[in-house]
Formats: sequence, C-alpha cells, structure tokens
Amino acid sequence: MKFSQAFIPTLKETPSDADTISLKLMLRAGLVRKLSSGIYEWLPLGLRVLKNVEQIIREEMAQIGGQELLLPAILPKELWEETGRWNLYGKELCRLKDRSGREFCLGPTHEEIITDIVRKDVRSYKQLPLMLYQFQTKFRDEIRPRFGVMRAKEFYMKDAYSFHATEEDAGNYYKIVYGAYSKICERCGFKFRIVEATTGAIGGSFSDEFMVMADTGEEEIVSCVCGYGANVEKAECVRDSSELKVVAVGLPSHDVAVLEEIHTPNLKTVDEVGKFLNEKPEKFIKTIIYLADGKPIMTLVRGDCEINEEKLKGFLKCDELILADAQTVEKITDATVGFAGPVHFRLPTSDFRLIADFSVENITNGVSGANKKDYHLKNINIGRDYKPTEIADIRKIKRGALCPRCKKHELKFSCGIEVGHTFKLGTKYSKAMNATFLDEKGRQNFFIMGCYGIGVSRIVAAAIEQSNDESGIIWNESIAPYKAIIIPISYEGKVKDVSDEIYEKLSQKYDVLLDDRDERAGVKFKDADLLGIPVRITVSEKTLKENKVEIKYRNKNSVNLLAIEKVLDNFF
Ligand SMILES: [Zn+2]
Repeated sequence: MKFSQAFIPTLKETPSDADTISLKLMLRAGLVRKLSSGIYEWLPLGLRVLKNVEQIIREEMAQIGGQELLLPAILPKELWEETGRWNLYGKELCRLKDRSGREFCLGPTHEEIITDIVRKDVRSYKQLPLMLYQFQTKFRDEIRPRFGVMRAKEFYMKDAYSFHATEEDAGNYYKIVYGAYSKICERCGFKFRIVEATTGAIGGSFSDEFMVMADTGEEEIVSCVCGYGANVEKAECVRDSSELKVVAVGLPSHDVAVLEEIHTPNLKTVDEVGKFLNEKPEKFIKTIIYLADGKPIMTLVRGDCEINEEKLKGFLKCDELILADAQTVEKITDATVGFAGPVHFRLPTSDFRLIADFSVENITNGVSGANKKDYHLKNINIGRDYKPTEIADIRKIKRGALCPRCKKHELKFSCGIEVGHTFKLGTKYSKAMNATFLDEKGRQNFFIMGCYGIGVSRIVAAAIEQSNDESGIIWNESIAPYKAIIIPISYEGKVKDVSDEIYEKLSQKYDVLLDDRDERAGVKFKDADLLGIPVRITVSEKTLKENKVEIKYRNKNSVNLLAIEKVLDNFF
C-alpha cells in the first residue's frame, strides 16, 4: 500500500477524553474512531490488525478440530427464557422488539443458540465430540463503557462451544483448548498469565482466564511462585488453623467473658463502634443479610474484611444475590439497618442459613450488632452465643495473604487485561434446554458442554497496552497492520527507483507500506513510530552510494545498514 493513497487519518493531538493509553494511540494512529459511547468504528489500519488476530485464532481453532459457523446477532427471547437468562442477565442484555412486538436481544454470548442447533441436529454419541465456533460482533449494554474497545458496548469476539458424550472427554478437551489459547497468546507476542476465575453470568463449574499482564489492566489477579494464579474475585483465602481457638462450631477453649449489651446510640459502622468501645476491627463480626434467589440468608465476616459476593454466590449455587432490603433486615433483626448480629435474631424459616466466613471462627469475645436499635453486643463467642449453619471461604482476599496452594509464600498482586475465558459448563445449558443424545447403549444423555471466548477487538487494545512507548505503538510482527514501512527520504530520482523496487519485491511476500508522501523525513519517521510498524527501511541518497539502505526495528534503538539485495531475507 502506498501511504499517499492509504486512509490512515492520524491525529497530532492526544484526544482528551481517551482514558487509556491504548485508546489514545488507537485514535491517534487512525485505527478506530468513536461513533458513540462504547461504540467504535474500525478504520482500515485497525481492521488489518483485527483480521491478523482473527487469522491466528482461526488457525489455532482448526488445529483443535473447531468448525467455523456464523450465528445471528439478534436472538429471540424464547431461547433465552428456556435457561432463565432472559431475566437473570440484567440490564447488560440489550433488549428490543420488532414491528409485531416480538421480543429479541442483541447477543452478548450464544450458549442458548448453539445448544438449540445441536439439540435439533445431533442425535448420537457417534457425532461427538463437536466443536463449533464463530467470529461475531457482540453487544453488552455497559452502564459505563470505558477503556475504548476494551470495555465497549459493541465488541468483536470469537466464541466457541464444545459438546461431549462424557465428562472425561469434556475435561480432556478443556485442556486442549487451554493449550490452544496459550498458543494464541504466545503468537500475539503477549506476556500473559492463566488464572482461575469465577464463572459469572455464563455459569458452569470451573473457568480460567487468560490475562495479558499490564499495569493499566482492569482486572486484579494474585499469583504465587508455586504456579497458583487466580482472579481476586476467585482467589481462595487460607483457613487460619494455626490460630484456631475453636473446633468448628464447638465451644471456645479460650477465656471467655460474659455477654454484655452496650448502648451505642446512632453508632452503626465498625469504625464508629470501634472508636466508642476502643476495640480493633479484628474484634468485630460484621453481619450482612442477603437475598439469595429471593430467600434471606445471613453472612458473617471479620470487621477488617469484606464479603466476596462472587464467592458467596458460588458457594450458595444461586443465580441471583442481592443485598436484602431494609424491610427484610428489620423483620429479621427487629432493628433498623446497622444493628444486625448473629445472636438472638428472629429465624425467618427453620432452614435459615447463617454462613460464617473462616475469618470469624477465631474471634474470641467479639463485637456485633445486638439486633436491637442503638445496641451492640460485646464478648460474643462462636458456639456459646451463636451457631453458624456453615463455615466457608466467602471473603475478599487481602494484600499480605498467604498462597492457598503451597501455603508458604505471600501472594503477589498484579494487574491484567482479560483476553480469553474458558468455561467448563457441564450440563447447565443442555439440561435447561433438554438437549440430549443417545449413548452407545441407546440411553438418552444430556450433552456435556464447554465454552471458550476470546475478545478479538480487546486483544488489539491489550497488545498496545502492553507494548508502546512515548512515540507510539510497538506491534508484534504477527499482528502488525504492515510488516514493514519503506521511507524514501525524498521520493524522487534514484531514491524513488530503489524504494519502488524494494516495495515491489517485498509486497510479493508481506504487507508493506511505502511512504511516498511529499513530507519531511522527520514527519515520516514520526508517523512510522506512531503506527508501530515493526521494520522501517529508510532509503536515502547517502546510503545508496554504498548500495545500502538503513534498517531499524521499532522495538530496538539501533540502526543498521543492509545491502539492498539482502533486504528480502533479513527481517523476521
Ligand atoms: Zn504458592
């Protein structure tokens, strides 16, 4: 491509509303333009990168037996109702009606649609395993779209779904996809980490996230030298048995004091009551009441910790978890919000669940609300004063925490950008949608499923986020929009002839840009750096005297001279 004819509208000024370095550079280099909040146009240069990423993914999917298809972006409500996700997905699901009032959504993910295809056309175990995937534009009505194409309302994604006859086969295939995803990250040139993650709105039993490491990343992850890695949402907290003063829900073996009721007028938070009583947050038992699928539950966590709602949701295996409304809290605690505690409350039902986090079981002579307006209790002890129905890991991990695997090292906290997510779905969707096949013995079984997503547009931004400098983007050669840029110092005479010759020769093998514009060399160099083209070939009268051209790699500072005839062989 000749630069003079290419549509590469670069910007000199950094757009002020761009909130990340990748978005700034994508706008400045003319890769994308913003049409509306969270909605972007991909210009030719950006699309080239997107297509390169797509091609790498397509090749790796072919390696593991994936078959490409293309599903509609607009999806009928009925299928989403079969799994209950029409209601559960919440406001991120962009819903709309056609002229006859029929309801649809813009697909954020396609489990229902693919399961519908397979239940109609796959009858026998002999047709399994089956792996289908697509590249498609997805929609997610983000409340606050941000970070450019990384958290946009509309994004381009590869989503894959696999169907298996047995758990074992699904498990083995999960590892194969894991390998393919690792290869995709390697081929894109990423420094990345694979971490355990929560399953969120997709569901299933287990999931892994592929994180591109970047200080600017939105996701926080923990990792350990032993190999353990997890998203903070998922990271397990170690049960501190060394300080365990009680056995499960047994009686405290420690000196315990007499339960005391203290008047704490208008003091509600751990901070306020702590100051008043001169007690540390570690002495407090925070009590939080939730509605899990509409049913009230009570949770307890130490005063210096927080409940991790994703973990709690996973523990309860519920679809919806929300904080209980004031009315529910008042009914259970007999007090206004802020005075809840695990001692003496009104059991709403006999099967009411009181779930204590591991952090609570070691608290001797603790403090909590008294279930009475303006009162707290002192010297609360597990076993004597209250009995949790369950003790579990439901808190957020904190800095300084020990690795839950090796239990030797402190976890390291770092940031990343999630570019891929793999899920073991099991029979979640096949059961809900009654999707079955006949096994060897003629029995009907539900398909065992997995699903696997990669954010293609997000990979482009993540690549920039991980690899840039003050001059611009530094593309990895594998996804660069052009492999090389030829810069004639002035496009005339012998310099022009040699530049054209190199351009013709290289173009047979690579995508190459020839900067034939009537611009100063400085401007051309600046643009080449901004665009991030991996190899710059400068043709000048000076070096032509020796029959050489100047070669500079975008990711290195050094400049080398190379004989013209060698130009073809020496780049990548
Ligand atoms: Zn470890």
